[in-house]
Amino acid sequence: PYDVLVVGGGPAGASAAIYAARKGIRTGIIAERFGGQVNDTLGIENLIGTKYTEGPKLAASLEEHAKEYNIDIMKSQLAKRLEKKDFVEVELENGAILKSKTVIVSTGARWRNLGVPGEAEFKNKGVAYCPHCDGPLFAGKHVAVVGGGNSGIEAAIDLAGVAGHVTVLEFMSELKADSVLQERLNSLPNTTVIKNAQVKEITGTNKVDGVTYIERESGEEKHIDLQGVFVQIGLVPNTDWLADTVERTRMGEIVVDNRGATTVPGVFAAGDCTNAPFKQIIISMGSGATAALGAFDYMIRNQ
Ligand code: FAD
Repeated sequence: PYDVLVVGGGPAGASAAIYAARKGIRTGIIAERFGGQVNDTLGIENLIGTKYTEGPKLAASLEEHAKEYNIDIMKSQLAKRLEKKDFVEVELENGAILKSKTVIVSTGARWRNLGVPGEAEFKNKGVAYCPHCDGPLFAGKHVAVVGGGNSGIEAAIDLAGVAGHVTVLEFMSELKADSVLQERLNSLPNTTVIKNAQVKEITGTNKVDGVTYIERESGEEKHIDLQGVFVQIGLVPNTDWLADTVERTRMGEIVVDNRGATTVPGVFAAGDCTNAPFKQIIISMGSGATAALGAFDYMIRNQ
């Protein structure tokens, strides 16, 4: 059996595996795609200490760093089930069962897509998902935020500080965000909220030049000229495979304590798949380190 088996090879998983291996314990990592969401990122400007890097470059260096250590790296493997017996068992899609004294789940999350024409085509060319990451690219420009929940309105308030104008497009007749956020948004001079708006298409040639939506009451089609669209209709954690083994929130996020421990002894979690409030590379790396040290501490107390 492993001492520490990490499931997920994004920033959280890579960090957890390196921290574990540095304790000289038997460490494995399963990753469907090493690097995780980082692979889909163009410019990264907020990994402190690195002024600028790019997603694929960072993903490759995470893997290189992990390879410096004695870590069993199992790529292109999907975990499909976890069970706590004497050891924690993780079953893979290919039927293999791996056993470990501790497991760190770091399977990340994915942004929910709108699924309209132009969204995939203009990803990183005006279509964005993370205001903390990409907001500054739209300084002085007109952007739309699609989604009027908490994350959408937080994004709109955040973007209003850098962008020229922010238009929020909400599908329903009301915003779902907390009223304090709505009030804050309404107090800003450069924001507009359009409700009952169904986004139909993100338009552009090489990059985004506008958004077309249907006014649901009238059925009329409208177009706004703008340079960016932030899609904020939900971040979905990749945790369905855990079923009801560990406690998860209503949103599916794994509940962890300040050592990364879940409700199952010996099972830890880190990164975007957890109920940590903010989802960023540096935060995921930190929580991966925390979970690995938490797992090590658990192990030396439960041998
Ligand atoms: P992930 O990166 O999601 O990694 C999850 C890992 O688990 C992957 O290896 C995946 O293949 C694997 N996995 C999933 N399910 C299974 C399974 N069942 N079995 C085995 N493996 C599995 N953050 C910043 O700080 N700065 C930025 O500039 C930035 N830009 C971003 C731009 C985009 C387009 C996106 C999508 C995100 C961006 N983020 C940015 C957010 C950042 O990428 C995430 O917060 C971070 O990658 C989360 O790390 P993680 O390790 O928790 O999860």
